[in-house]
Amino acid sequence: MTAVNKVLVIGGGFSGMAAAIQMRRGGIAVDLVEIDPDWCPLGAGITINGATLRALQTLGVYDEFVAQGYVSDGVELYTAQGHKMAELPTPRPVGADVSGGGGIMRPALAAMLARATRAAGVDVRLGCSFSSLEQTDTQVNVDFTDGTRGSYDLVVGADGVHSKLRGLLFPEVKPLEYIGQGVWRAVMPRPEEIVRPRMWFGQHIKLGVNPVSKTHMYMFITEDRPTKEHIDPATWPQVFAGLMQPFTDPLVQALIPHALTPEAAIDYRPLANLLVPAPWNRGRVVMIGDTVAATTPHLASGAGIGIESGIVLGEELARTDDLQTALDGFHARRWERCRMVIQNSERLCRIEIEGGDKEEHARIMRESIIALTQPI
Ligand SMILES: Cc1cc2nc3c(=O)[nH]c(=O)nc-3n(C[C@H](O)[C@H](O)[C@H](O)COP(=O)(O)OP(=O)(O)OC[C@H]3O[C@@H](n4cnc5c(N)ncnc54)[C@H](O)[C@@H]3O)c2cc1C
Repeated sequence: MTAVNKVLVIGGGFSGMAAAIQMRRGGIAVDLVEIDPDWCPLGAGITINGATLRALQTLGVYDEFVAQGYVSDGVELYTAQGHKMAELPTPRPVGADVSGGGGIMRPALAAMLARATRAAGVDVRLGCSFSSLEQTDTQVNVDFTDGTRGSYDLVVGADGVHSKLRGLLFPEVKPLEYIGQGVWRAVMPRPEEIVRPRMWFGQHIKLGVNPVSKTHMYMFITEDRPTKEHIDPATWPQVFAGLMQPFTDPLVQALIPHALTPEAAIDYRPLANLLVPAPWNRGRVVMIGDTVAATTPHLASGAGIGIESGIVLGEELARTDDLQTALDGFHARRWERCRMVIQNSERLCRIEIEGGDKEEHARIMRESIIALTQPI
């Protein structure tokens, strides 16, 4: 007994893969189309909180994550000059035997989920997308860019924050607006003393590191920029090294030469967020992950809420033979948690930009971390 028999997932990011794996577990036939022929995201590091580790355990890849990535508990907070201010606990999530947090290179996590997707029996087509969709009362008929056609009981849209599908189904949703802050990231060798995430606080700039393997960590710097200006990628290493300069902690200073090497693979992203009001379906097409709920990274939860949504959608579809009941159950379990992450992350971002109340920042951080440990 499932609400659907055959589903198409559009987009093989973290959210789409999680949905596909969980639906296969419920006995549902799943096709997945991914537009990137190499199925490989950008090579930056990513912070994975305890709740996301719990979701990865549900998907069966936690042990692989521990082997390839890095897990730890707590976050160390420092001044720019290198004085330790505090250690923030990262409570372990309820209902799972996993660490309070971790880090990994994005391609490594994507590759392990891709293997799990294929092992679950999902029919994956790369370099392929939809060209048109037509809904009837009982089916969605899809034309693909490779010239084939298919009919499905449900389509899951997981094609990311710039979703083509969202443009078709939710034309009223406005384009993303730049939030006034950007994030720089770099890959660095891991000094021995970095055994868990560490953050240094400047006046308006925050610098952090998080181990992503036994040998490496990634460094991120959040920078306020009032307008979304183009920064020539050829200048990124110099800009990044310049942003590191005011952090006079010798540990940070010693890493500046590395920032100027190609191995650092500096990346810059202007930040934006998106929260489409629920319901996230139009008939037999439902959207998950960044397509409808994209957050700024202040709670390191974007991938997490997308993966959780994929799992919950799969669970609800396997629990009933009625599609509307399954979709109602999905929205009931996902809306408030996604809203909380996106709006609290935005508040943290605005406090940082305005140089606002550090007490409020710490309180929101604490409350959000605790809320995230709750069962989904
Ligand atoms: C700078 C930055 C730092 C971040 N750091 C963190 C962090 O530390 N921790 C964290 O948890 N989250 C973080 N996030 C958020 C996280 O990256 C996203 O929430 C997550 O990747 C969303 O996954 P998704 O599968 O929903 O979308 P995506 O990752 O965007 O995946 C969409 C997939 O669909 C494919 N696709 C696109 N269009 C089509 C199409 N028409 N047809 C078929 N396929 C298509 C794409 O190729 C892609 O594979 C960060 C985000 C940013 C911007």
